[in-house]
Amino acid sequence: MIDLKKITRGIVLFTFDDGWTDQWLDCIPLFQEFNAHATFFYPGPLPEKDLDGIKKLQKAGHSVGLHALKHLNADEFVAEHGETAYLEAEIFPQMKVLESAGIKVENFAYPNNQRNEETDKVLMPYFKKFRAGLPSKPEKGYDISAQPDAFLTMEEAGKTNLYCGNGIGEYYLSTFENLEKALKKAAEENLRLTFFSHGISEEPNQISMNKTLLRKCLQTASDLGMQIAGFDDLP
Ligand SMILES: [Zn+2]
Repeated sequence: MIDLKKITRGIVLFTFDDGWTDQWLDCIPLFQEFNAHATFFYPGPLPEKDLDGIKKLQKAGHSVGLHALKHLNADEFVAEHGETAYLEAEIFPQMKVLESAGIKVENFAYPNNQRNEETDKVLMPYFKKFRAGLPSKPEKGYDISAQPDAFLTMEEAGKTNLYCGNGIGEYYLSTFENLEKALKKAAEENLRLTFFSHGISEEPNQISMNKTLLRKCLQTASDLGMQIAGFDDLP
């Protein structure tokens, strides 16, 4: 477990959604090279293949979380059908599968980053940490380092279990320069910075991360002396 008081060069959290097991497992050696951990979120019924993947990711030191059975918007579902119906439809079925497989998971990523205070309250008894997204939608010239909500001081980080990430991928207008600038800011000012993406490959879709870009980001964060952590590494 990381002691936030001992962090002097910032923390970066790379998180990935939507159960891209093959691509994620393929990246285990890459993360290992930089002594880096990430957090991976699974939607869906969690067939054997996903359970195997989850076990392998956890064994390699990564954190895993749930991402809801049908990937429905939590805020809308709770508002329309109530909290019990939401838990029974989206959360409990996944938890049951993990429980039978003997897998412990304490993190949750909101589908489509849709959340509110009510959904946090509904899910709080079941998870320790939550991943959502930043409110602003990237537009041309988007500069992560200029988004105040993207960065938390260590003191702020110690007080919240909500991690609002910046998207990485073509859709989010990510460039290495943009990411590098954000990493530098986080390292120099000792801040916590969270990212989210989906798959990781050399030919990623619009909302996934290029593997070479990931390597460059890990190299940069490592050179800057940052902690590259998974959710379970943090208090
Ligand atoms: Zn998703």
